[in-house]
Amino acid sequence: MPRLYPIEKTRNIGIIAHIDAGKTTTTERILYYTGISYKIGEVHEGTTVTDWMPQERERGITITSAAVTCFWTQSYLKQPETREERIKGEYKINIIDTPGHVDFTAEVERSLRVLDGAIVVFDGVQGVEAQSETVWHQADKYKVPRICFINKLDRIGADFEFCLKSIEERLTKDFALITLPIGQEKDFKGVIDLISMKEVYFEGERGEKVIYKEIDPSRKNEAENWRHIFLEKLAERDEEFMEKYLANEFNEIDIRQAIRRQVLNYNFIPVYVGSALDNKGVQLLLDGVVDFLPSPIDLPSPRGIDPLTNQEIERKPTDDEAFSALVFKIQVDPYVGTLSYVRVYSGILKAGMTVLNTTTGETLRIGRIARMHANHREEIEELFAGDIGTIVGIKTLKTGDTLADPKKPIVYEKIEFADPVIWMKVEPKTKADQEKMGLAIKALVDEDPTFKLSQDPDTGDTLIGGMGELHLEIKVDRLKREFNVEVNVGKPQVAYLETVTKESVAEGKYIRQSGGRGQYGHVWLKVEPLERGKGFEFVNAIKGGIIPDNFIPSVEKGVREAMEKGVLAGYPIRDIRVTLFDGSYHEVDSSDIAFKIAGAIALQEAVKQGNPILLEPIMKIEVVIPPEFLGDVTGDLSSRRAKIEEVFDRGMSKVIRAKVPLAEMFGYVTVLRSLTQGRGTNMMEFSHYEPVPQNLSQVIIQNFNLTKSK
Ligand code: GDP
Repeated sequence: MPRLYPIEKTRNIGIIAHIDAGKTTTTERILYYTGISYKIGEVHEGTTVTDWMPQERERGITITSAAVTCFWTQSYLKQPETREERIKGEYKINIIDTPGHVDFTAEVERSLRVLDGAIVVFDGVQGVEAQSETVWHQADKYKVPRICFINKLDRIGADFEFCLKSIEERLTKDFALITLPIGQEKDFKGVIDLISMKEVYFEGERGEKVIYKEIDPSRKNEAENWRHIFLEKLAERDEEFMEKYLANEFNEIDIRQAIRRQVLNYNFIPVYVGSALDNKGVQLLLDGVVDFLPSPIDLPSPRGIDPLTNQEIERKPTDDEAFSALVFKIQVDPYVGTLSYVRVYSGILKAGMTVLNTTTGETLRIGRIARMHANHREEIEELFAGDIGTIVGIKTLKTGDTLADPKKPIVYEKIEFADPVIWMKVEPKTKADQEKMGLAIKALVDEDPTFKLSQDPDTGDTLIGGMGELHLEIKVDRLKREFNVEVNVGKPQVAYLETVTKESVAEGKYIRQSGGRGQYGHVWLKVEPLERGKGFEFVNAIKGGIIPDNFIPSVEKGVREAMEKGVLAGYPIRDIRVTLFDGSYHEVDSSDIAFKIAGAIALQEAVKQGNPILLEPIMKIEVVIPPEFLGDVTGDLSSRRAKIEEVFDRGMSKVIRAKVPLAEMFGYVTVLRSLTQGRGTNMMEFSHYEPVPQNLSQVIIQNFNLTKSK
């Protein structure tokens, strides 16, 4: 079947926001107005349509990214009446759900990678909040063009001018208001569209009828003022429009085209206002998605590596190019099995075709393909370039895998995820749980690359690792709900690291020559500190073949393995550069294994001489509290070794920003609740590693030696 929707009428977008800003509600209204969602469900009733897991509904947060498809014709145009008219006029919008909680930024990054544009939702009372900032910077990193929505203007305390100010102070100056609220709080009635200079009202049971009216004379002046600000800002950024603007010869189409150009250039961000819950303003936001956010061909062509030549290559996002796609999400659906969400970058994915997983080298036959809508799944035959859908029933795919035409392979850059900063022991409650536990955890690990499974080499305990306490709690909760596996959990353990503080050299020898064929590996390594967070570098400085090339990878392998168990307290060694600069070999006795062991011996020895220290994960935290609790909360934070960086007002609340060692923060949610009579909230996210203070590090090392000698 040919394509119904040309690629230039496709939008792949995400909705990103601070938790509670109203992302879920806005998504729902979008799905409702686009005609796919028949019944609107409020979050607190637990019937949202993009959320899949019961616990997301209960906690009211979105953890996984699902992708749903919907269709839209701009509200200011004549609405289609027949199917043909619809298909001709409509745009296809794929909404990639981005998670709202800060513990899951890896998932946010992953979804940002596959989307072309985003709606950023702000709470009209709170303005820019901590996570809005984090996500904003991530969107900058991935160069995602965006439009903004100031939501909740119906709420008491709503203040769009305060929000604009906080955007200007904390995010960007390249924006302008393009819809102006008519009233605020309980008087919020509708908006003035500053492009068409019309008042817009949303009538019908759910605001589904969009009514354009002339501007009331009493509001004319204010609207003119805001339009003036908006057009000036736009003209400053768009030369073509500037000329028309100065000559005073422009129409709505000129304005829209100029906005589109500058949104795509990252020079301008249109800001909409509304209230998703109160059914106001969402349709204009959808017009903005269609009018201003990019289609897949508006962006630079995707680039990846040709695995045959190791050269960077480019793929055009067209149907007649060779097929390539990126897997960005795995979901295990209890009814249909494994769903792998893919974005097709080039060519066409067809049911029944054979593709190469260029990340693993595995060849796969694609069985079924489906498209997810708000409330149903649609089986389809083909997925065209630029589109998003799911492959059904293939269990071996992982997030980040590239799929490609076997004759024209390409590997898209793999997404890099941080290592866990926290580990926890899990134990099945019953024998029945024991059998299911391993498989269930594995399914969760496959979905989330920041969630890890491991085994304590000494005790044999099963350990799960992640990016924070809440992250692990949610996984344990899912084990119970989705997989019916009950587990007992141990105390969370901090994932410390070890590193060196000065350069050192050491020799590693593994020589056994007792009759027959012996073993001979001999290396000299230099180990030096690397910048924090850089991990590991291996440099081969061997000259003149004093160690033959074919043994060098074995030395590196030995070094890597030895790095997994440090010399102070058994924690992994990181942030070091290891240079192999000398050694020797034996014609007959040298082997891979001998060089591997020699590498490991030298590494451990060099680290011991390099003044090793322990590193601990430091978290970024933002605590929001009523002002009367400020003293208690900062006092408590200081006793947890926190460095308080900033305290400021946000609306009626005080906001504290600090950096604090993860080791001091277990159970903090409960502590904060009791310190603030339940009114404080906090958000924590991994920031970086820092040396553990001397006295504490001695305790950690002593404890390690104690358990070891037991
Ligand atoms: P998310 O965490 O960003 O997905 O936010 P939700 O959509 O779950 O909304 C968080 C809370 O704010 C819920 O209780 C919503 O009912 C409420 N909410 C969302 N949008 C609005 C709005 O426009 N006005 C008001 N007053 N409340 C809203």
